[in-house]
Amino acid sequence: MNTLKLIICGWWCWLANPALAGQPATVTYLGNTALMVKHESTQIMFDPFFHDHFGQYQLVPEALRQAIFAGEGEFGQVAVILISHAHGDHFDAADLLRYLQQFPNTQLVAPTQAIHEIEALAGHQAVAQQIHPLDQARGDAPVSLSLGSVSIEAVRIPHAGWPQRAHVANLVYRVTLNEQVTVMHLGDADPDDRHFKQWQAHWQARLTNQAYPPYWFMLTPSGRQILADRINAHSAIGVHVPDPTPAALQDSSHQIFNQPGQTLTIHPVPTKEPIAHE
Ligand SMILES: [Zn+2]
Repeated sequence: MNTLKLIICGWWCWLANPALAGQPATVTYLGNTALMVKHESTQIMFDPFFHDHFGQYQLVPEALRQAIFAGEGEFGQVAVILISHAHGDHFDAADLLRYLQQFPNTQLVAPTQAIHEIEALAGHQAVAQQIHPLDQARGDAPVSLSLGSVSIEAVRIPHAGWPQRAHVANLVYRVTLNEQVTVMHLGDADPDDRHFKQWQAHWQARLTNQAYPPYWFMLTPSGRQILADRINAHSAIGVHVPDPTPAALQDSSHQIFNQPGQTLTIHPVPTKEPIAHE
């Protein structure tokens, strides 16, 4: 009975007092692990430019790419671009350089491995002020930085396939927009709780409204456990989904992104209220 009352009160408080929970945000799926998150006039993009699909992943459709580069409509004012890691299905140095040259107010946050690829290109000096490299080794404590109304926390979590690819700097970002909406992008993180467990205090320090794990988290018991019990995320939508969508994912109850251009609303949860339905 008490639980029921808490559920009703929690949602009633949320509905009755939008200031408590804040305005909703939106997330637009662009392709593979590329996403745009928008809250009020603050926009960020994760892993937006890449050209390798390795025969199975979804590229960003050309019309969307053109709209992004044209800064059209909803793509008008991207404050921060975040890169998970420097693999060809997540990152293209030349595209990023071109974008930063075109949009001098946009900031880039990326592992140094990605930044080095940009710095190998002619013309990179012009965008030096826009670049924020993160040079985290495995085992380093999470770092944080603030860029205007975007608060970023990052921790290096090994790439899937551990201990292979141990040299790849894969960052898990937790990003808060306008101090109201928090999302988490996991890049190509390995779904082994040994990588996550050591940062328990980090996950607990802030509730994530929505996480975007690669789909293999949804298909492995350890990945599902990390999503449910470890990272303190209210909801999760799988990305990096192969095309066609694997039957095991289609049949599961897990939410996934597999239609580029799809936009969903992220409802902030009332963080000052107990989350009784969890
Ligand atoms: Zn990768």
